[in-house]
Amino acid sequence: AVTLVWFRDDLRISDNPALAAAADSGDDVVACYVLDEETEGIRPRGGASRWWLHHSLAALTATLEDLGIPLVLRRGAAAEVLPRLVDECSAHAVVWNRRYGLAERTADAAVKTAFSENGISATSYQANLLYEPWEVTSGTKEPYKVFTPFWRACLTFRTPRRPLPAPDTLHGPRLDSEGLDDWALPPTEPEWIRGLQETWTPGEAGAQERLDDFLDSGAEGYNENRERPGMQSTSMLSPHLRFGEISPFEVWHAAQDHKDTSTAHDIRAFGSELGWREFSWQLLYFNPDLATVNHRSEFDAFAWEDPTTADLSAWQHGTTGYPLIDAGMRQLHGIGWMHNRVRMATASFLIKNLMIDWRVGEKWFWERLVDADPASNAFNWQWVAGSGADASPYFRIFNPVLQSRKFDPEGRYLLRFVPELTEADNLHEPWKGSAPGYPEPIVDLKESRERALSAYKALPKS
Ligand code: FAD
Repeated sequence: AVTLVWFRDDLRISDNPALAAAADSGDDVVACYVLDEETEGIRPRGGASRWWLHHSLAALTATLEDLGIPLVLRRGAAAEVLPRLVDECSAHAVVWNRRYGLAERTADAAVKTAFSENGISATSYQANLLYEPWEVTSGTKEPYKVFTPFWRACLTFRTPRRPLPAPDTLHGPRLDSEGLDDWALPPTEPEWIRGLQETWTPGEAGAQERLDDFLDSGAEGYNENRERPGMQSTSMLSPHLRFGEISPFEVWHAAQDHKDTSTAHDIRAFGSELGWREFSWQLLYFNPDLATVNHRSEFDAFAWEDPTTADLSAWQHGTTGYPLIDAGMRQLHGIGWMHNRVRMATASFLIKNLMIDWRVGEKWFWERLVDADPASNAFNWQWVAGSGADASPYFRIFNPVLQSRKFDPEGRYLLRFVPELTEADNLHEPWKGSAPGYPEPIVDLKESRERALSAYKALPKS
């Protein structure tokens, strides 16, 4: 008998409940990945994510081959491809780990119904979130709108389960596979690729290495240092978590096991960042159009500027004349990732100082981030805009000069990403000295702040 394992956002063999169930059944196992760019509503991946997916699939293929089976690659709408695969290998069962976007859930439910009608068992598992979005709701059975009570309720509800071991060996027939290279997933700009290649090792081994490095060197002091973009103080696990190369259960327990009296508050802070990830996905589950619709509808009337201006291009390419903003946008451009504090500052700058709709920024991050996911990206953009759940109020406008003075006082981050600046310059306010080759500020901070505040005040209050 054959069980088909459908890999999606869970490109790993450790702590993979669907794979574990197939392996434990003693059946032959066929593992597949379907590149679905046809099912309506599934958002096409951005360029950086396509690069990551390519390498992650290559890594998973190699790992599965070591266990004894290939990864079968097919392209097309899941609802058509999966039944064909089931026929080809005469599978009696299909297993997968759950996804949480509406289009994905709808597709999965349709596939499940079609299989059950034909006597094929289809079973889904919890693998990529510590808590299922519907599990932890407020007293009125509504989803939480505020993070702190949500996370407190999660931790009381259940301690995350221990991770499952990877199977030792697998066996099964070899089906025809499409060629990964033929999918031509990665973007072609050589500079973009180089920056990604130099920074990341997609795949389960690379994820494990990041986690070990973080626990060895970054975890102690995390609570304070995580705000410092010039330090290597956060885990950089986000793309690995996004592609499911490591499970949140593995990260959670590795961190808990590392806890001692001196690191307890650091591990708690790190755990609560994983909590923000859970919160984002819960919000997406209950608000499937989180990336396009203001959570607070009064923002629908906001008078955004026309985004086709030179300002947008300066923001995207890191030439605004504000060193922290430019360093962040160039870090994003270069390595497909940006430090969280700087993500907040660059987003605030776009939304408030340039008064460009947050959705325009969300799309740019979607294209360039290796960790872009439909929940965290949309949630955080709405958080900065003030239009989201538990959001930072609109009138909280990050001042990029004060932010860099406070969080990068010696300018280590600025100097790393803005080579036009040198230690001799007035790093946080280069326009006050001479920094040849570095652009003049594109907007006045005070004037643009006032303009944004008046636009906000003009909104109808709900
Ligand atoms: P760590 O500090 O090591 O945190 C551990 C993990 O917790 C992260 O890997 C991530 O999975 C989770 N996490 C931490 N902060 C957040 C947060 N604010 N929201 C949700 N999860 C969080 N994160 C994404 O994973 N994908 C995105 O597309 C994304 N877009 C963002 C857009 C904006 C405008 C902002 C302000 C933040 C965004 N974030 C996004 C959240 C956050 O910036 C990143 O998760 C974090 O910087 C990843 O770095 P790390 O792995 O070193 O984090």
